[in-house]
Amino acid sequence: MDERLRRACPCLEKLWQRIFGDKKSSPAAGAAGRTGADNAAYNDDVEAQSPVSTPPQAEEKLSESGAIYTAVWSFEARHQDELSFQEGDIFSVFDRNGDWCTAQKIDNNGRVLDTGIVPIYYLSKAESLRTQPWFFGFMSRFEAQRQLLGAENEDGSFLIRQSEKDNCGYVLSVRSSNLVKHFKILQSASGNYYVEPYRQFSSLVDLVAHYCNNTLINTGRLSSHCKRKKPNTSDLNHFTVDQWELPKEEFTLQEELGRGYFADVYKGRWKNHISVAIKILKNDSELDHSEFHREVQILKNLRHRHLIKLYAVCTNSVPYYIVTELMEKGSLLEFLRGTEGQQLDTASLVDMAAQVADGMSYLEEQKSIHRDLAARNVLVSGDYICKVADFGLARVIKDPFYISAAQNIPYKWTSPEAISHGMYSIMSDVWSFGILLFEIITYGGIPYPALSNMEVWEQVEQGYRMPAPASCPEKLYQIMLQCWSANPDDRPHFKTLKVKLDSEMA
Ligand code: ADP
Repeated sequence: MDERLRRACPCLEKLWQRIFGDKKSSPAAGAAGRTGADNAAYNDDVEAQSPVSTPPQAEEKLSESGAIYTAVWSFEARHQDELSFQEGDIFSVFDRNGDWCTAQKIDNNGRVLDTGIVPIYYLSKAESLRTQPWFFGFMSRFEAQRQLLGAENEDGSFLIRQSEKDNCGYVLSVRSSNLVKHFKILQSASGNYYVEPYRQFSSLVDLVAHYCNNTLINTGRLSSHCKRKKPNTSDLNHFTVDQWELPKEEFTLQEELGRGYFADVYKGRWKNHISVAIKILKNDSELDHSEFHREVQILKNLRHRHLIKLYAVCTNSVPYYIVTELMEKGSLLEFLRGTEGQQLDTASLVDMAAQVADGMSYLEEQKSIHRDLAARNVLVSGDYICKVADFGLARVIKDPFYISAAQNIPYKWTSPEAISHGMYSIMSDVWSFGILLFEIITYGGIPYPALSNMEVWEQVEQGYRMPAPASCPEKLYQIMLQCWSANPDDRPHFKTLKVKLDSEMA
């Protein structure tokens, strides 16, 4: 048993002994298997450097039945099958279905106290870094910045995150004089962690403990960990993983969040437990109902950090409801145009674009097409995660509308081959992504501002492309131009776009 784990979770000592006896394990902890060169770097743009260490393992998956987990959040049961628990409770975890699993709550001696269904994202493997309150797992630079600058945090507040950029590893983000500095945590050949090469530590826990008592270059001491927000569960409940048609009566409507062409969107509650967004469809008479249900089935299985989560639908009577996770900051377009958006620097804007590319790259892998990618269809969560919305169902809901009235096609976002020949593909989404990049870098600017829809179509067909917006980095403009290649095959894939935005633009 690793000494560091014992130190990190002393309350589990009896349990460790019971499970592992006095066996000593190799030094591994959460960053198992990382090796790296011995060079240090500390500045507030560390992710710009070429990676020197291999990435930490992806977030733990529930692999072995009976594995021991600790609750990192408290949870209140909403159904008789579920277990309520407090932060710090210990579980032995069994079958998993979606983000829910059957678990036994156990005491320090391993005695079973209760059994029931729990949300896996509220638990973390007992020995994992996620049990540390300062460890935030995968998180982008932009999210770290927004969270640390929140009013609930102070100078010296900090977190350690796993960079979303490939091969970047762990990053220590610290609030300092109302700015956020990011320090890449490197690893020596012997596996020690450091941000300054002359101060090395055998664990991240030790590194944090040291900088809580000693000054970190140009920054001061670490004070308290960044305050964490409870995560949303990816389903309303364990049974909505497989059964997503729910009665309307289970939902209450609260304030209106927005009005779209196809739907009005309300903030709402499910069974008075969970805040959700409820989209009430306007033109369901024109819907192809069987296709709608087929799409819902596909969508329920699309799960990605940068895609909006579909919770449920209510289709037993009109108007139909589509229930999704609530995205507190609204659409990316409104966000960019608002006070918070206007304060973003170029690195944060590019970071948001990379998040969208990441979500789209997952859709690409799943052989799905979006067809209406634009800043208005990307949503921003309360913790500043950008998620692609309106995919899949968008086609089913919007197609009759586009077909019946050509002027409704979003010409300025749609690729020439999709407008002229209806040839939608992931590559026509890439074209739209180029326009989305324009929207992001201009803080919600209108594409082709001086041109009408028809003029855009005609001119783009003849080879016209928007010029680089003022203050747009040249590399970003080059990416936009690649997205707008006349031949769809010459456009980059989303996976490439994500890497380009992460590395070339950093
Ligand atoms: P439509 O597709 O009919 O145009 P939208 O999906 O764009 O409708 O929704 C209209 C507006 O409602 C959005 O611009 C956004 O402000 C708000 N909205 C939509 N979905 C959510 C959500 N899940 N959370 C918060 N706000 C949302």
